[in-house]
Amino acid sequence: MQERNTLQKRIVHETLIRMCNHPTADEVVAEVQSTYPTISRATVYRILNKLADSGEALRIRINNGADHFDHQTFPHYHVHCSSCGKVADVTMPVKELGSMLSDTSGYKILGYSLQFDGLCPECQKNEEIEAGA
Ligand SMILES: [Zn+2]
Ligand SMILES: [Zn+2]
Repeated sequence: MQERNTLQKRIVHETLIRMCNHPTADEVVAEVQSTYPTISRATVYRILNKLADSGEALRIRINNGADHFDHQTFPHYHVHCSSCGKVADVTMPVKELGSMLSDTSGYKILGYSLQFDGLCPECQKNEEIEAGA
C-alpha cells in the first residue's frame, strides 16, 4: 500500500512538472488518466494537496476560480487570464514588495497572495480577430 502511494505520488508530481503550465487539479487528473486510467480523480486531488502542504508544489488560489498548481516553489507571482483562465508567471522582485507594504501600513507582513488579471497573448489575438470581423 505504502509503495503504491509513493508510486502514485511520483506519477502526479512528475506530471505536474512535465505540464509546467500551472494546471488546475482537473487538468492534472486528465493528463494523469491519459496514461494511468486507474488512478482516480480523488487520488490525484489528495496527492496535489499533499504536495502543496509539504511545499513540494505551490497551490495558486484564483479569485472566483479553481486552484491551480505550480511545480516551481520559489516565491513568485501569477497573472490570470480573465478570458480563458490560463495562469502564467510574473517576474518581479518579491522581497521588496513585502517590506514596502509593512513600511506604509505599520503591519508586520507575514505572507501575501497577489493575483494579476489580464488577457493572455492568445486571447488578445482572438479579440483582435473578433474586432476586425
Ligand atoms: Zn487567455
Ligand atoms: Zn508559477
